[in-house]
Amino acid sequence: MLSTHPAQLQNSGHQYLPLTDTSVKNLSPNQELLPLTAKVNSSDCLEIGGCDVTKLVEEFGSPLYILDEVTLRTACRQYREALARYYPGESLVLYASKAWSCLAVCAIAASEGLGIDVVSGGELYTALKSGVDADKIYFHGNNKSTAELEQGIESGCTIVVDNWLELRNLAELAQAAQPTRIAIRLTPGIECHTHEYIRTGHLDSKFGFDPNSLDEVFAFISQKPNLNCISLHAHIGSQIFESQPHKDLAGVLVDYLTKASHYDLSISELNVGGGLGIRYTESDDPPSIDTWVQGVCEAMVSACKRQQLPLPKLLCEPGRSLIGPTCVTAYTLGSRKVVPQIRTYVAVDGGMSDNPRPITYQSLYRVVVANRMSAPLTETLTIAGKHCESGDVLIKEATLPKTEPGDIFVIMSTGAYNYSMASNYNRLPRPAAVLVREGEAHLILQRETYQDVIRQDRLPKFLTP
Ligand SMILES: *Cc1c(COP(=O)(O)O)cnc(C)c1O
Repeated sequence: MLSTHPAQLQNSGHQYLPLTDTSVKNLSPNQELLPLTAKVNSSDCLEIGGCDVTKLVEEFGSPLYILDEVTLRTACRQYREALARYYPGESLVLYASKAWSCLAVCAIAASEGLGIDVVSGGELYTALKSGVDADKIYFHGNNKSTAELEQGIESGCTIVVDNWLELRNLAELAQAAQPTRIAIRLTPGIECHTHEYIRTGHLDSKFGFDPNSLDEVFAFISQKPNLNCISLHAHIGSQIFESQPHKDLAGVLVDYLTKASHYDLSISELNVGGGLGIRYTESDDPPSIDTWVQGVCEAMVSACKRQQLPLPKLLCEPGRSLIGPTCVTAYTLGSRKVVPQIRTYVAVDGGMSDNPRPITYQSLYRVVVANRMSAPLTETLTIAGKHCESGDVLIKEATLPKTEPGDIFVIMSTGAYNYSMASNYNRLPRPAAVLVREGEAHLILQRETYQDVIRQDRLPKFLTP
């Protein structure tokens, strides 16, 4: 909550630091701008996971994604422990890996007891390679190819069926000797935009079955011995700051579970999806992980009581709120351009290729200068990327100390939908990522080279010089 972390709001010095002298355990990572281990060291430099960020850039170059292990594990545990505290039935947290899919992140989530949600053959492949058990993998997607469905069946994961084409394909592909576990995704009639939500009977969404078709779906599946439907699923949006939509969703899912109980199916799980928001700027005020989980659990328990159903296994699938606050991106400052009376630009050595969210969604971010943490903030500048695109601006109005080329700019809360949406636009090699823990940095994504950039290029013979 804003009021409980005044240190984040001071407009100078340690303006965005969490209160590291309070126990890390009591902070909900999704309410913090910086990772939980962030500190300023005696050289006035930002330290994360015990590593001086300016030294990390010296060693690994920039741009550099810096992922704090403590913050990620804390977020995983808070979800898991809150479910154990507030839900008397079984539960499972799935990490929505599309937010950042790579071997190390999947492996950490799995080591915290989480399952993994994947939305493509590539994410499934990544999760399996990281050592995650297939029975804890859920395979989403609104247009899985036949090859992806076969890959899912082969792996033994649960396939979240999105539509009739997929359901019929699966009924063809699945083996009767080893029935394929499936979940049914439905459009719940609850839609969230960041600050508001609407409930309607019918929704314009490309995802999931129309609830009006569920009788037909359940009847179809009950005739297919090669399909074992275990779960109902819905996902209502992302970066949500209220608890009410997910509480309503719990009730809606329980209603559909009641409907399913009239068919010969063995649905034992309800999955409320992901969507809890995080803090990108001081004005973002999401509920804590604990508060959000408590709301969902209480709504689920009371809806089941009302419908006189036994408690299902409760699943949720956070992406952004697990990984977003765990990471910052470090850049090196380069050129400066003053446009008199209008604005001053400073440019960094990355941009829309490593963080496409500002240009795609007009997303807001905050910055600190890692080598001048307590310098007074004296200027408002525009932080531009280095791409050939006027819209390639990371922060339109950044409050900064006096800076010079070579300074290390750190943009916060970049764990979610940054690396996973990164591109090679302008043929920039994608950045490296390091996992920091207890003063050591471990490379988890190698920086791409120019060789990598042209790896898939082919030159037809007649063009060869
Ligand atoms: C994107 C997505 C999530 C995760 O959403 P966040 O807002 O990142 O928590 C969970 N489930 C499904 C099906 C998704 O598509």
